[in-house]
Amino acid sequence: MILILLGPPGAGKGTQAKRLEEEYGLLQLSTGDMVRAAIAGGTAAGKTAKTFYDAGKLVPDDVIIAMFAERIAAPDCAKGVILDGFPRTVAQAEALDAMLARMDRRIDAVIEMKVDDEALVERIAGRFSCAKCGAAYHDRFARPRAEGICDVCGGREFKRRDDDKAETVRTRLAVYNQQTAPLLPYYKGRGVLKAVDGMAPIDDVTRSLRQAIGAARSH
Ligand code: AMP
Repeated sequence: MILILLGPPGAGKGTQAKRLEEEYGLLQLSTGDMVRAAIAGGTAAGKTAKTFYDAGKLVPDDVIIAMFAERIAAPDCAKGVILDGFPRTVAQAEALDAMLARMDRRIDAVIEMKVDDEALVERIAGRFSCAKCGAAYHDRFARPRAEGICDVCGGREFKRRDDDKAETVRTRLAVYNQQTAPLLPYYKGRGVLKAVDGMAPIDDVTRSLRQAIGAARSH
């Protein structure tokens, strides 16, 4: 199964992808995580990506498409994937179609997670994660049970993403509206687009996603 989660930064794509991964035996492919790893590793692609990433802009299509193409061709992706953050432009969507056609695979569903912009700034600017295990937290909505201690691994160090500052978040939202939103009519035209309310409580969103996936599977 190939599932695409589409939605602005902070819509909850990563959180939901992690929940669905295990349940459906799929692998979450996050191009944001790939970019962060490339930047941390100091690779050539990482060096190119860094200025765009820091500014909240999209990394050029050729760089991100090459990164993604290499990853999706790996054997562990054969069982099925949830794409989180890719494609983000029409050019990327076309490149994805071409890649999948060569692999004789197809997109089962594209699910839009609908959220409103103002809520997103608050959601994103407050998020942080455990430096050791990556568990996600939020200043207002999901603090660790014991202050300063990770619920999952007991770690005491936390980190915030460089691009989660309020001013960068606004750029990322504008970029989404200009460059990524055109994917909605693109996939609607292909008959694979579904939508869920991303403003609902986390468990409700997961439930709606399950329903959308179930409907896609029965086709
Ligand atoms: P994310 O973690 O998905 O919010 O992505 C963080 C940043 O990584 C974005 O703001 C972009 O700079 C870069 N990035 C991730 N995915 C893509 C993509 N598909 N196309 C271009 N840039 C991307």
